[in-house]
Order: sequence, then C-alpha cells, then structure tokens
Amino acid sequence: MTGPFIWWHSRYDDQVHAFPLAQITEVGRGILAARCAHSAHRDLIVDTADGMRCFRCVLLVNCPESPARATPIW
Ligand SMILES: [Zn+2]
Repeated sequence: MTGPFIWWHSRYDDQVHAFPLAQITEVGRGILAARCAHSAHRDLIVDTADGMRCFRCVLLVNCPESPARATPIW
C-alpha cells in the first residue's frame, strides 16, 4: 500500500500512526488500518499528530523500499 499518508492519533493504543489518505476519504469506511497494520475504528482515530509516533509507522513510511533483510538499527 502506497500513497500519501496522514499522521493521526489512535486512542486505541494512544500512539500516532500513519494512515493512508485514501482510506480516510473513503466514505462509509468504519475501520482504518495504519501503515504498520494497526487498525482501529474511525471513532477512535483523532485528527491530530500530537503524541508519540508509532515506531513501525515511522520506519515504514520513511523507508518504504527498504528490503526486509536490512540491518535493524535497534
Ligand atoms: Zn503504526
């Protein structure tokens, strides 16, 4: 899944995830799935980027082409 992402806060796990813009603008979609595969109901997603960013989302959005064999940085 590629395309523009937007950082929104999930009250489900209290972290800021990268959500695909295409999902957010999709009318009638109840569940939103973040880049890291975290998913939550739209009611739990808050339109703010304040808070701690999801580590996996940061990596996946910043390095979408990085191979799975890449050496972890942690
Ligand atoms: Zn995430």
